[in-house]
Amino acid sequence: MLVQGPGALAEAVRAQGGLLVDRGPLDAVVLDTSGCDSVAALRVLYDALHPAVRLLGAGGRVLLLAAGVPPSPQAAACARAVEGFTRSLAKELGRRGATANCLYLEPGAALDAPLAFFCSERSAYVCGQALHWQAASATARPARRISVVTGAAGGIGAATVRRLAAEGDCVLCVDVPQADAALRALAAETSGEALPLDLTAPGAPAQLAQAVQRAGGADVLVHNAGITRDRSLGRMSAQEWDQVLDLNLRAILAIDAALDAAGALNAAAREICLASISGIAGNAGQANYAASKAGLVGYVAARGQQLAARGSTVNAVAPGFIETAMTHAIPFMVRTVGRRLNSLRQGGRPADVAEAIAFLARPEARGCNGQVLRVCGQSWLGA
Ligand code: NAD
Repeated sequence: MLVQGPGALAEAVRAQGGLLVDRGPLDAVVLDTSGCDSVAALRVLYDALHPAVRLLGAGGRVLLLAAGVPPSPQAAACARAVEGFTRSLAKELGRRGATANCLYLEPGAALDAPLAFFCSERSAYVCGQALHWQAASATARPARRISVVTGAAGGIGAATVRRLAAEGDCVLCVDVPQADAALRALAAETSGEALPLDLTAPGAPAQLAQAVQRAGGADVLVHNAGITRDRSLGRMSAQEWDQVLDLNLRAILAIDAALDAAGALNAAAREICLASISGIAGNAGQANYAASKAGLVGYVAARGQQLAARGSTVNAVAPGFIETAMTHAIPFMVRTVGRRLNSLRQGGRPADVAEAIAFLARPEARGCNGQVLRVCGQSWLGA
């Protein structure tokens, strides 16, 4: 790892194990630009990274640290310039499987968790993104963490269950009764519990809240269940509109209200909602889906402020094209084009999204709240 830059944060990165080296191939390059407060100072982007990107190995990582609380308009301009630079560099690096991301750091923010994520294979499908990291002390990890994952029977949900179980979590796996066999097999495999439940059924939020309470309250809650009913608005039936909004947005708000009322979310809980790049960029034929997923983006921003007082956080993960049953249902040609419309020129795997969820679920991730992390290979949709 090559660590450079004029800001004080570079020191912290070096303390995390970053070394100064002068030859490649490099696995990761971290550049601290937080001290940049003039256009002249921005020259560090060229001076440091012009030689460094040539030494970056295939699948390498570039992480740019920017000032999260710029002390002046000039510093704010520099910080945003760094974000724009990152997005462009990411588009150049993607064809080598390498990524670049930007982390806005508040003074005093702990670096270890985001550094470990962005500089490792865990962020393989996170490219060209900017995340804000606040100064907030990490919360303690419960001795036995209880996690809840909805839509757990397949795709991203099942990968998330396996990823959280690998960390030692006891996972309550929720999915429709029709998926009972797969759900029970997954729960048995991961030493978790299965809860067959249609989340749109009347009384489902209360039922889920009771099950969570019985399990000891939720430390991690992943709202993953979601559906598509794609059609252009003029041809869309009212039922197709209702079904998507009902599960993807209304049910999530109702479940959270039920969990809050029952006190079933433990202190320092980590909540993650599965949004979508469609909800950020819009997508023809997905007006219902995009509205539901954009709703979640607004929801986590507002709910994050409410949860912060308890040491809890809520964030959204917005996948791009991920290889699951949902995307396999897309017609072949559209699917083939869709999976290549990003800087990495390939689709992501459910495990890539699960890694981002596991990252935001960490006790050390308290500094990230109310935000959206795209796992999309820097999709050209809304990039
Ligand atoms: P998937 O279709 O493979 O899995 C979704 C799961 O939700 C299924 O197991 C399904 O049975 C369950 N489910 C559906 N209705 C339910 C209900 N009423 N109650 C309980 N469970 C229900 O989907 P996926 O691709 O793994 O997507 C997971 C999440 O990620 C969804 O919210 C989706 O919108 C989002 N997402 C996926 C992609 C992608 O490319 N696959 C892209 C962006 C966002």
